[in-house]
Amino acid sequence: MTQTNKTVLQIRGENHIVQPGQIHKRWSDAAESKGYRVVARVRDKNSLALECKTCGGLHVSRYYVLLNFQPGCPHCIEARWRETAKDAGVEFLRRDPKHRHYAFYRAECGHEIRRQFTFIERMARAEVEARCEICHHAREQEEAIQKGWELIGRDPKGDAQCRIYRHAEGCGTEARIFRNNMQTGRFTCPGCGENWSTGPSYLYAMKFALETGTEAVKVGFSRNPESRLKYQLHRNPDLPRELLLKVPMRSGRHAQRVEKRLHKWLATEFPDDLVPPEEFTDLLKVKSELYRAGLEATILRQMHRLQRKERRAAERSRIRSRSRSKRMRRARP
Ligand SMILES: [Zn+2]
Ligand SMILES: [Zn+2]
Ligand SMILES: [Zn+2]
Repeated sequence: MTQTNKTVLQIRGENHIVQPGQIHKRWSDAAESKGYRVVARVRDKNSLALECKTCGGLHVSRYYVLLNFQPGCPHCIEARWRETAKDAGVEFLRRDPKHRHYAFYRAECGHEIRRQFTFIERMARAEVEARCEICHHAREQEEAIQKGWELIGRDPKGDAQCRIYRHAEGCGTEARIFRNNMQTGRFTCPGCGENWSTGPSYLYAMKFALETGTEAVKVGFSRNPESRLKYQLHRNPDLPRELLLKVPMRSGRHAQRVEKRLHKWLATEFPDDLVPPEEFTDLLKVKSELYRAGLEATILRQMHRLQRKERRAAERSRIRSRSRSKRMRRARP
């Protein structure tokens, strides 16, 4: 390297003009003993361009840092961050310029997360798991939608177990409800008294147009399938969609059981007809349970069968309760 005024070194994306002047032996010796080679004087009279003997990368260091401390090679440090991130199952993207302990990573789900370096190290050692806030919020929203509610936000009183929800498919009341009660449906709406698990419900099939130009059928359950179709599931109100069929069910809890069995059967019999979530998560607030339109006839046939079964069950329970009341009348003196 000739030391003329015009020489420019590109170091970590920045141009540095090589400065005139001698490279003292005590600098080269210190560099040698610390894993570097002095390439040139750059920037000002106090700075040196150092080449890392491990990776060959260049960085700028003040000479008194080189003499008195062990300068770290930023390329090697970043390579270690990338390696640790890989072990943790995420991808290192960039440092957080606002906080030296933090960096941005690409999580497995594809979203960007911001975490401390030490947190990623603990992840790599399998001590903690990275929870993506975006996916987590979507999961909680889906739990609420399933029960006919909508997640509004955190608990204003700061209870980590509680959220504010709105009775979207019912009376519209906003209420503070424990998240695990929302998950199980074991609560009564303080506005209208509806109880999801014991109140009547419907199994439904809906058809949506996807961006790929194809259509998909969603099977689910709801107390109010029309409202779910109209207001709840889509992210864009113009999304073409229609309700194909709704089958009355005796209770929300029962509808959920029947729906789970139907999904299990469909997934086992027609594994290739499940639509992968990446085709619809931008369009719908759900993450699963969509089938290719080719399955429409099969799904409707199954639902008609369930409808007949549910009618027979309702008929039997009517007869039972009628004969019970007859017996009670007879028993009366
Ligand atoms: Zn290095
Ligand atoms: Zn995510
Ligand atoms: Zn309500």
